[in-house]
Amino acid sequence: MLNYDEAFDLIVNEFLLLPRNISEVDILNAPGLTLAEDIYADVDLPAFDYSGMDGFAIKYSENNNNKWNIAGEISAGNFKEYHLDKLSAVRIMTGGRIPSSANTVIPVEDVIESEHIVTLRKDIEIKQYQNIRFKGEDLKAGSIAIPSGTKVTPHNISLAAACGRTKLKVYQKLAIGVLATGDELVDISEFPGEDKVRASNPFSLLASIDEIKLHPVNLGIVKDKTELLKNAVTSFLSSDIDILLTTGGVSVGKYDYLKDVFNESGIETIFWRVNIKPGKPLFFGKYIKGNKTKLVFGLPGNPVSSFVNFIVFIKPAIQKYYGDESFDYYPAVLKSTINKQDSKRHFVRGQMSYDPKTKNYYVNESGSTSSGNLAGLGISNCLIVIPEDIINLDPGDMVECIKI
Ligand code: AMP
Ligand code: MG
Repeated sequence: MLNYDEAFDLIVNEFLLLPRNISEVDILNAPGLTLAEDIYADVDLPAFDYSGMDGFAIKYSENNNNKWNIAGEISAGNFKEYHLDKLSAVRIMTGGRIPSSANTVIPVEDVIESEHIVTLRKDIEIKQYQNIRFKGEDLKAGSIAIPSGTKVTPHNISLAAACGRTKLKVYQKLAIGVLATGDELVDISEFPGEDKVRASNPFSLLASIDEIKLHPVNLGIVKDKTELLKNAVTSFLSSDIDILLTTGGVSVGKYDYLKDVFNESGIETIFWRVNIKPGKPLFFGKYIKGNKTKLVFGLPGNPVSSFVNFIVFIKPAIQKYYGDESFDYYPAVLKSTINKQDSKRHFVRGQMSYDPKTKNYYVNESGSTSSGNLAGLGISNCLIVIPEDIINLDPGDMVECIKI
């Protein structure tokens, strides 16, 4: 059976072979998406020399005065040229363009004003060029402001806006279909009968897909009947959806038909089962027709298993597809004992918190290890990663956690 790393590499390899189509979106729809073009500055940033402080602009000289006549005023957006000499200053507001004769701004806090005279406070030293932000000092017109391949985020989107970009070219969102399978499943709007279960799995998956800014498509519920499953898989294969996630029906039960259905529909198995817990029965395959490739993940039906599979395999592989190499691993100090009896990689639900005093994350096991326990998953905020070769962990041991 494949181990985690081997399975993950196979998934990443297939994602990297998928084409990355480009579309143009309004700037406000771009956060979370990846730029498919370099963004160039169309103006110098800043576009003119301006004051970084409210104060007085002066013409600096070696043997400066400490007293100036106020010649006038410049506020942000309201420029007027002044020809200052040694004895005159102009009141200037933050953002106000510096007159060509000035080269230094004294903050308003450093002077005393009376009538039309401004006097430097005692013991204040002036440095030439202080408090001036110079034209082009951040970025020159024509240079790259944000390189292609960068994820658009709240901290860089204003730079694109400052370059006048109302639309941005980004890599298109993959469309990911989610199909729940199982004879026992009923729609969540129904009250489940004695042996029925609300089909809850799709919601974690659809929400996770939405969270990473891809396009989720709810494909509903299908019973464990070969023909019905085949119809659902065939209609996915002929759709515009790029990736299929199914839940349930990929284990070793008598009615776990999906692997056969996938293969009979032309989906090639890349692997089935990984040496992890939870989530071992994971199926991964691909379908190629002409120049179009689709990827298929058969996730186990247990709610925690399907979610863990998404978090540890699908999400980071998609991040790599979009060029994002970061993976939300946090080193944390374990507060409880964890024993495991096998050589699988475990992903244990945990509750992690940060202690600013010690500058450490600390984590507790959430309690339940049942892969059906949605309540236990609901109160967790991370998965504690227990590598294959670790058997026992004690309080104080360092572990890696994945934020969920
Ligand atoms: P399976 O992988 O089909 O053997 O299902 C394993 C367990 O997960 C069973 O207890 C199923 O009832 C449960 N299960 C399967 N699909 C879902 C779903 N969509 N929502 C909640 N539980 C499910
Ligand atoms: Mg089933």
